[in-house]
Amino acid sequence: MREVEYRSHGVPLEGYDLTRGDHRRQKERGEISQAARRMADEDAAKCRADPAMAERRRQAFENAWKLMQSFQKQDHEVMRWRVRLYCGHIVEMHMHYSYTDPVTGGALPRRCSECGAQGLTIVAYEPIGLLGERPESQSAPPPPPKRPTRAELERRVEALEKENKRLRAKRSL
Ligand SMILES: [Zn+2]
Repeated sequence: MREVEYRSHGVPLEGYDLTRGDHRRQKERGEISQAARRMADEDAAKCRADPAMAERRRQAFENAWKLMQSFQKQDHEVMRWRVRLYCGHIVEMHMHYSYTDPVTGGALPRRCSECGAQGLTIVAYEPIGLLGERPESQSAPPPPPKRPTRAELERRVEALEKENKRLRAKRSL
């Protein structure tokens, strides 16, 4: 597993004054949800009018669901985040460990588990830690360093010679 540098934004547990940016992002989020809902409604109407399309759609959803199941994450691949939502509540979110923060990870909490508000943006966050311990690596000790190839040695000698020349030129000034 590669090392990931996790980012924080604000301190979720301390008081937080919403910024103008926070208000703007929350407004945009609301507009996006409305547009998505409209599209879903139109789609549902089309499916009602066309059973074959509805069946194709159902099949596509089922395939996507199966695919997601096959990517089940292990506990040590899941990062826990303490997140402050626009409504002011602090909730815990889980993301794949490779994301440096829950916003670029595209985390969209569906609804606040505290107040039930929906479509909320994240205003502050900090990493808590991995959900599970990383299993002890059972692999053999790392392989010994590779011996440099002839080409690498030649490049190194060339660089040293250049450096030498530069130093000599400096001294003769
Ligand atoms: Zn809330």
